[in-house]
Amino acid sequence: MEKTKKIMLSEAEMPQAWYNIVADMTNKPLPVLNPQTREPMTREQLCVLFAEGVVDQEFTQERYVEIPEEVQDLYRIWRCTPLVRAYGLEKALDTPAKIYFKNEGTSPIGSHKLNTAIPQVYYNYKQGIKHLTTETGGGQWGSALSFACSKFGLDLKVFMVKASYFQKPYRKLMMNTWGADVIPSPSDQTDAGRAILAQDPDCLGSLGIAISEAVEVAMRNQATTRYTLGSVLNYVLMHQTIIGEEAVKQFEKIGEMPDIVIGCFGGGSNFAGIGFPFLRMNMKEGRHIRVVAVEPQSCPKLTRGVFQYDFGDTTGLTPLIPMYTLGHNFQPADIHAGGLRYHGAGAIVSQLLHDELIEAVSVPQMETFEAGLLFANTEGIIPAPESAHAVAQAIREAKKAKEEGVSKTILFNLSGHGLIDMYAYEQYFAGNLRNFTISDEYIRSTTSELPNIIK
Ligand SMILES: *Cc1c(COP(=O)(O)O)cnc(C)c1O
Repeated sequence: MEKTKKIMLSEAEMPQAWYNIVADMTNKPLPVLNPQTREPMTREQLCVLFAEGVVDQEFTQERYVEIPEEVQDLYRIWRCTPLVRAYGLEKALDTPAKIYFKNEGTSPIGSHKLNTAIPQVYYNYKQGIKHLTTETGGGQWGSALSFACSKFGLDLKVFMVKASYFQKPYRKLMMNTWGADVIPSPSDQTDAGRAILAQDPDCLGSLGIAISEAVEVAMRNQATTRYTLGSVLNYVLMHQTIIGEEAVKQFEKIGEMPDIVIGCFGGGSNFAGIGFPFLRMNMKEGRHIRVVAVEPQSCPKLTRGVFQYDFGDTTGLTPLIPMYTLGHNFQPADIHAGGLRYHGAGAIVSQLLHDELIEAVSVPQMETFEAGLLFANTEGIIPAPESAHAVAQAIREAKKAKEEGVSKTILFNLSGHGLIDMYAYEQYFAGNLRNFTISDEYIRSTTSELPNIIK
């Protein structure tokens, strides 16, 4: 019997607009606040830090935002990405569920992050900005931005979380290949970095600290330099919706729709990317597709955090963002899904969770690697440790479907491949990994420091 494994779209079928879910939300996301005045950040204030083009997108109420021709042109290097039926995984699980995954690992940098790196650099380039700064955890965002900067002729300084800098030398070299300057964070190049090193010279860094450093450098060089962020913000989530827009078209081609859509969750961008276009069907067409975010048990902001205003970084330089958060001083354990070690969630996703329009679960580290190995051996692709969280949840859902004797259609986003993350797998094989549970007491201590703005 002929079985279609991959559902493809031609380049001509690539969606030409991003989807802005804010247009369809009954309860709009709360505004981002100026930390000094606690008034909503204005366009002018945000434009000090970010390109004008993306700031406009942060505020837009339009349902669809057209993808600029130059961006579409670069997207076509690898898009559309395949939607794949995971027959091998289904067989191994002996499940009646159908499991599909969207393979964002096929991008040149190996993950979904290029979907937003390209438009972000494009809008800076249009504005005449010459230098960009950013942070990177796992190295994925830095790689994406490096490649995008090389295409538009901007230069780039990347503050890379020190733990990853040493664990992932190849990510650093990828960034160097595309011409970026990569600095291990905390560094002695910024006040923020120096302050932390003075307290703890051996600090291995965090995304929050690296953000502080990148923001500081951009603020110091206003005329020519802007900062970029690879997740969390509204426009970043919107850029990623190309993933779900393609997936909707692909499912339409085979006359099916998923019952469950799953994405791993760091700041929310790949989850939003795969999930929002399906949520639109729930909101506009009365469907009941479950959209599930998967976070690490060791960094459980969605399942155990509080809904409150918090800084996006550790030092308190960024605007206050309404988020599910563990507190900006929360220090996540040194797990190998670097991209998921972030204390908060984006404003839109936080509002959706608050309104119970999406679900959230957490998965322990060992289960994610077991899932990653099963996926590698059944489908051939070694998933990024972040993406393995989505695989793990897809497996849980497929097992549940078997127990209940129902055939569900499950879609998960394979946000990236793990070929540059083999150090993590090496640690797993060597028996050096374990699960980390966080005490309620620790979460109480890091969340009790937050301002009491959302009552
Ligand atoms: C960065 C990253 C993530 C987490 O970031 P989100 O903004 O939550 O998507 C997940 N998977 C991979 C492969 C990443 O590089």
